[in-house]
This record gives sequence, structure tokens and C-alpha cells, in this order.
Amino acid sequence: MKLVTRAQLGWPASAAPTQTSTLGVKVHYEGEPVSTRLLTDHSACIAEWQAIRKAHLADTKENYSDIAYNYGACPHGYLLEGRGIGKRTGANGNQPLNIAHYAVCGLVGSSGLTQPTDAMLGAIRDGIELLRQHGAGLEIKGHRDGYPTACPGGPLYAWVLKGAPRPTPTPAADRRRLDEEVR
Ligand SMILES: [Zn+2]
Ligand SMILES: [Zn+2]
Repeated sequence: MKLVTRAQLGWPASAAPTQTSTLGVKVHYEGEPVSTRLLTDHSACIAEWQAIRKAHLADTKENYSDIAYNYGACPHGYLLEGRGIGKRTGANGNQPLNIAHYAVCGLVGSSGLTQPTDAMLGAIRDGIELLRQHGAGLEIKGHRDGYPTACPGGPLYAWVLKGAPRPTPTPAADRRRLDEEVR
């Protein structure tokens, strides 16, 4: 697991309410355009995660105490700490939904970068497993389950419906064969 901690992000301890157990985890996306520059520039992923927290803290309507997600996941397979372990999410739509599941957000959006990389899926899976070690139940759902939203978008939701499996790396031999085929 490649974890980027709050300390590394320069963030103080989360002010979010305590939530030591849930039924499971809900998967989210950003729900707005996300730049494909994230694919080639990991510093853009960190900037994106910082910007999400800043926007959430500035959202007077939702009155967030912190970035809304427990974790994020970038295209390079980094798990980005949000509220982290033992904290209630603010992302699921309302308080009963926030109490019922933790929240992990893949850094893909409604346009631009819309397809999660295998590394991102692996990082979301890392977040789910980490949360399971600290009170999350076995459910894996999408934000749209029980709340009217397009989140987490088509590609991530299709993966959620399959049980959010950890991607298996393509064996080198197969990759070579594919490379030969496209020549
Ligand atoms: Zn969402
Ligand atoms: Zn990245």
C-alpha cells in the first residue's frame, strides 16, 4: 500500500465526528471534470486532493468539518488519507447514510479523466481493506446506492457491482503478445 498521510499533506488531525464501525464502504468519484494531466503528473493528484479539501471546508451549505471522504485514490495507485480511520464521512448524502458506510473517492470525474487505472482500483481496494481492519463491515456500494446521484460514475460503479476486485496484473508474456499484435 502506498499511503499519503495527512501529516505528509500538511493537514491537522481531522475534526470529523467519531465513527468506529460501519456496514461497509461506499465508492465515490469527483462528479465534475477532472484533468487527464493527473495521469502523467502525480503532483497534480496531490494538488487535486488538496483542492477538494479546500472546497469542502469552504462549503458553508454542507458545513463540512474536513474533506468529506475517508480516503482518496489516484491514478498512480496512491491511497490519499482524508478523514482516515475511525471518522464519520460527510460524503454519502445525509447523516444516516454517513453513519452506515465509510467513503473512498477515486480521482476520476464526469469528463476528462473518467476511466480509473488498474493502479487506482488497487488503491481503492487498499482503502477498503484498511477500513475493514478498523471497523468497516463487508459491504461495498456506490454513492448512488440509496441516494439520487450519478456518483461514482459508470466505470467505477461497474467495478463496484463486480465486488470491487483487486486488478490482476497482466503477465509479461501476455503483454508481449499484445504488443506484437498491434505492430
Ligand atoms: Zn459521491
Ligand atoms: Zn497520483
